[in-house]
Amino acid sequence: VSYRAIFVVPSVLDSIRHEVSRAKRKETGGSLVGYLSADNAVVVTHASGPGPRAELAYDSVLVDGTFSSEFTNRIFAQSGGRLDYIGDWHRHPCWSLASSRRDVDAMRDVAESRCCSISHPISIIYRHFPEKLVAYAFLENRLLPVRKLIIGAVHNFR
Ligand SMILES: [Zn+2]
Repeated sequence: VSYRAIFVVPSVLDSIRHEVSRAKRKETGGSLVGYLSADNAVVVTHASGPGPRAELAYDSVLVDGTFSSEFTNRIFAQSGGRLDYIGDWHRHPCWSLASSRRDVDAMRDVAESRCCSISHPISIIYRHFPEKLVAYAFLENRLLPVRKLIIGAVHNFR
């Protein structure tokens, strides 16, 4: 069973917008950090950029793995282990927000690496214009859309 909803705190959207503007027309992306709530919703609290050694192209992005791990490990430590790696985000420079075969393969690698703290890693795809975010969860070897994606403050989060 997939997640009930995905909540994205506003600073995550700010981070994504910042990275997308830096990437100009190229694809970019990074890691997502957060937690799974007791009622089966994913809360995304942090998003990283691609990192200094990332390779950005017009139709792909290869993120800097060392940078991503350091980003995740730092927040994991600072939060006392409450916040951890939950998936990735990337930008589609084109209009489509559908997940590509490559997106599915990337999330399969994440799931198989067992570095993800939730059972089904999430993938968020961002489009700048018109601005839209869509979220998917990797399960049953597919990326299934999580239709309820809410951007807003999470009041019970410390
Ligand atoms: Zn994609």
